[in-house]
Amino acid sequence: MSHFSYTCGPKDKNLLAMTIGEAFDNTVARFPEREALVVRHQQLRYTWAQLADAVDRYARGLLALRLKPGDRLGIWAPNCAEWCIVQFASAKVGVVLVNINPAYRTSELEYALKQSGCKWLICARAFKTSDYHAMLSGLLPELAQYLPGELTSSRLPELRGVVSLAAEPPSDFLSWYELGALGTAVAPEQLLTCQSELHFDQPINIQYTSGTTGFPKGATLSHYNILNNGYMAGVSLKLTEHDRLVIPVPLYHCFGMVLGNLCCLTHGSTMIYPGDAFDPLVTLATVAEEKATALYGVPTMFIAELDHPQRSSFDLSSLRTGIMAGATCPVEVMRRVISDMHMKEVQIAYGMTETSPVSLQTSADDELEIRVATVGRTQPQLESKIVDEAGNLVVHGQIGELCTRGYSVMIGYWGNPKATAEAIDQDGWMRTGDLAIMDEQGYVSIVGRSKDMIIRGGENIYPRELEEFFFSPPAVADVQVIGIPDQKYGEEVVAWIKFHPAHSATADELRSWCKERIAHFKTPRHFRFVDSFPMTVTGKIQKFRMREISIEELLPAPVDGSVTR
Ligand code: AMP
Repeated sequence: MSHFSYTCGPKDKNLLAMTIGEAFDNTVARFPEREALVVRHQQLRYTWAQLADAVDRYARGLLALRLKPGDRLGIWAPNCAEWCIVQFASAKVGVVLVNINPAYRTSELEYALKQSGCKWLICARAFKTSDYHAMLSGLLPELAQYLPGELTSSRLPELRGVVSLAAEPPSDFLSWYELGALGTAVAPEQLLTCQSELHFDQPINIQYTSGTTGFPKGATLSHYNILNNGYMAGVSLKLTEHDRLVIPVPLYHCFGMVLGNLCCLTHGSTMIYPGDAFDPLVTLATVAEEKATALYGVPTMFIAELDHPQRSSFDLSSLRTGIMAGATCPVEVMRRVISDMHMKEVQIAYGMTETSPVSLQTSADDELEIRVATVGRTQPQLESKIVDEAGNLVVHGQIGELCTRGYSVMIGYWGNPKATAEAIDQDGWMRTGDLAIMDEQGYVSIVGRSKDMIIRGGENIYPRELEEFFFSPPAVADVQVIGIPDQKYGEEVVAWIKFHPAHSATADELRSWCKERIAHFKTPRHFRFVDSFPMTVTGKIQKFRMREISIEELLPAPVDGSVTR
């Protein structure tokens, strides 16, 4: 057996060679009366047959808007039933859905709509502090002058109109109800014809990468990419039509719309949205009242659920499985999810938007130690390798950059061949920018991102390792470790610590905890005690913000503007 860090996932499970629309129709035909979608905050419930009714009507509505396969349609809304209906309706007519982050403000919205060339936008009325109607009227003063569908805007020349999900939107917008009525007037045969001309390699979704690093780029994904990724994630979870999955992660991110919606679609499981945005109490109540068998979340969500003072008042015993992903999944949190939330088969998934997203996943059959401490092995029909800076394979146990190849790798970044060529090499490998180690059995551990590594006095320090370590002091609920510049050592370690409610410790106590347990150079020079971390809407920690804040607080401002700090 080779001792190089390369693996190919199992090939015994065939990929689905069909469009998302075909997969949808198959599931509807198999389970028409089973529950498909539950949206708790809208008090809506659909069987697969009822969902098909809505999806087909709105797919015909999109045809009535003169949208054609390959055209782009933006969706700017928090989690709701309409999001799911639009996802499947757009897929049925081959219209590329552009996911727009609900937290975007006007300039980011303009960027995404313009960069992807959206012809229509579907938007919510408002979300949190964002008044979407007001923001759109500011961005598109012409909205009031034209009928929906005939918009002419200098800033967004390709945009023809906006559909609002508001109950009674102003006349500048087409209402959701009107879009459905337009659909009713389109013959069902027209939809069937359109659907029959699509094929699974066509693009169907653009997701702007979450912005923890760099400028947003539109990862363009095909039916084949995302349908199969959702399917394989569900195979790993052993989902069936009897499973009920609670999806508190955002739909605009692949965690929600691929690992949530498409995973349920391909296995006939029930999609359950607890709310429009994450709330630990609402999520716990949803699991209990809906007798959910599976639950998703990024680590910070699970931590918030575990630490919620009312957690023990909910019966979570229906839970069997779920996925923790999106960021480093601390061993202690995994253990508590298994023991305190009954998720005995919980798995860790690793991936990125550009790879549909999942490349590696633990399995319910893996030993507990492996299941809580690694991101598992290469998913079926995919390949993984770990390479050094020159692109050569490293041996097992050695750190390098993780690369992924296979059906899941995106078509490319929308309208950005240069960024695509930088991300995917000529042999089809997607460079993840994540640092990882593979063992002899092919289990992979993520040890950080390339730029995440701290080099202190010539010693390499991996934040991931320290973050795991700081989960052992009983008072610590969550931790993030970053590096800041230091004149003497090059870099110094800073730990941001969040305590469990009613717990605390001093920096000196934490330092003495470290003293016996880890090499002295890894002991953080600085501690910062916080209630939360700067995060993106998807729950990803923004380490670059933490770095900026720590530099601001801890380092003296340079007198002459030079970069001594
Ligand atoms: P996104 O494209 O927003 O899904 O972000 C992808 C990035 O999230 C990856 O490149 C990793 O840095 C990080 N990530 C995702 N899943 C995991 C995981 N299970 N463990 C550690 N990091 C992860």
